[in-house]
Amino acid sequence: MSLAICPGSFDPLTLGHLDIISRAANMFDHVVVVVMANSGKNPAFTVQERYAFIQRSVCDLPGVEVDTYDGLLADYCALRDATAVVRGLRVMSDFEYEFQMALTNNSLHAKTETIFLPANREYMFLSSSVVREIARYGRDISTFVPRAIAADIQAKLCGKEIKHECG
Ligand code: ADP
Repeated sequence: MSLAICPGSFDPLTLGHLDIISRAANMFDHVVVVVMANSGKNPAFTVQERYAFIQRSVCDLPGVEVDTYDGLLADYCALRDATAVVRGLRVMSDFEYEFQMALTNNSLHAKTETIFLPANREYMFLSSSVVREIARYGRDISTFVPRAIAADIQAKLCGKEIKHECG
């Protein structure tokens, strides 16, 4: 069975992330989207919130599982005996960081290859930080994130409680 890992901060999940996840699901038997808890970034959403947003957005995609991990990606790949790590590449500025990460993972756990998928033209300039910025100022983000989670992202970033974390 081929298994792909789609790791990231997902702070929050965007349609760009979802596009990469669904394309990975077309290529592999099983895909695990893993929210990495230990990223150096200072996230706007908790790991549980990010996990729940993804869970609610991938429920229609067969063979896609969501998980969280606090540790090295290479160790998670070994734990799951992963075939590949799938990452999305937007502009050239992503490349240096992604290349460094792929080489590091490869030196720690050579069995798992990294595969890069070019961003969909429509989502080329879409990032979690752009979504957070637009939502904070109360503008509509429904064309940037899955519809099911748009209101809850907006609510949290405008200082309101999130009502539906799961389901
Ligand atoms: P990280 O902090 O690990 O970079 P992100 O949540 O920012 O986590 O991104 C996770 C993955 O999704 C990365 O491979 C990133 O390049 C990819 N990605 C982010 N936004 C897009 C997008 N708009 N289109 C395609 N891939 C994307």
